[in-house]
Amino acid sequence: MTLDDYQQAALRTINPALDDRDRLLDASAGLAEEAAEVLGLVRKRTFQQRTIDPAKLTEELGDVLWCLAVTASSLGLSLSDVAEANQAKLAKRHPDGFTRGPESWSRAAKE
Ligand SMILES: [Mg+2]
Repeated sequence: MTLDDYQQAALRTINPALDDRDRLLDASAGLAEEAAEVLGLVRKRTFQQRTIDPAKLTEELGDVLWCLAVTASSLGLSLSDVAEANQAKLAKRHPDGFTRGPESWSRAAKE
């Protein structure tokens, strides 16, 4: 499955009662909410020595992906657009992989 295939599938499951404005708000707020659920799993693992259930982690990361897909679509972007732009940014910031220090990050961000 490609990112854009996933995005099209996600769009079939949006709430049809929402108008464009509310769909964007629902998805972008959900992005923060679902990311917090992932953080909660990591927090419990880190500070409470709990094991992360891979199925639960997969579910929550999937929820993040759904919200990202709908947010991007609501703003006229495909997931492949987002992925390619991010990859280009990372390739510029870390052309040789993650080998340089923080001082080069701020320089790359200004470029
Ligand atoms: Mg969730």
